[in-house]
Amino acid sequence: MTRCAPFVAVSPKCARRQVIPMGERLYRTTGVIIKRIDVGEADRVLTILTPVGKISANARGIRKTASRLAGHLELLSHCQLQLAAGKNRDVVTQSVAIDRFEAIQHRLYTMAAGYYVAELTDNFVTDEDTASPALTHLLASLQMLCQPCHVEMVMHWYTLQLSDVAGYRPQVFDCAVCGALLDEHAQRWSITQGGMLCPDCVRADTHAATISLALFKLLRFVQREPLAVVAQTVQPFALHTQAFRLLRQWVVRHSEQPLRSAVFFDDVRLKEYQDY
Ligand SMILES: [Zn+2]
Repeated sequence: MTRCAPFVAVSPKCARRQVIPMGERLYRTTGVIIKRIDVGEADRVLTILTPVGKISANARGIRKTASRLAGHLELLSHCQLQLAAGKNRDVVTQSVAIDRFEAIQHRLYTMAAGYYVAELTDNFVTDEDTASPALTHLLASLQMLCQPCHVEMVMHWYTLQLSDVAGYRPQVFDCAVCGALLDEHAQRWSITQGGMLCPDCVRADTHAATISLALFKLLRFVQREPLAVVAQTVQPFALHTQAFRLLRQWVVRHSEQPLRSAVFFDDVRLKEYQDY
């Protein structure tokens, strides 16, 4: 592999104001590829989560065998990038992979989880303020998926962290309506009110879902504990299924985007359990 000179991450906004000799407007940054769309005969449009926001960039000729970019810009790869500001869309001119998270690609289950978190990220990150903490949590989750861990727990953790940074942290310790400290008598989950309701506030949302105490405890545990603890905790298949259903309704509602990769993930997850 040919290694380029080390890049220095700078803000695209700042960098776009600089004109680097070569007659192009270049800037450098780091980021994770969260979406790829093939266009034309050999190009690919990438969505890259950087510390300062999402960038949509064209990787010209990347699908050609001899492309210098090939192999550095796979989905979920963490890369150092040099881009040229374009009229309609920026263009990737150089790239070096920092971490391809190859262990994720070795197992269908973690691959499906990777697609899921990538789509979730693309749906939820809409501005610069969200991008930097989202990138930190995404990198932590991808690193964890490369290690022995409980995949569902990593995904629940990331979903709750991403909801938090996007401003949609569900209330699971205090009542979403009155703010009272919740105890195990809380059973109702309200998407419209922002999380769990205490028994006195259940009338605030007549459509609030009744959830099990086990699921309530799981949400509190995942929201409270660090990823290293969460990812090593065993929970039953059925409880994870409940958690996925509830958290997907939450993210779809707040991101106003469908989560298409969930169907594929569910199929792979079911097979994963059937095989053991
Ligand atoms: Zn209340």
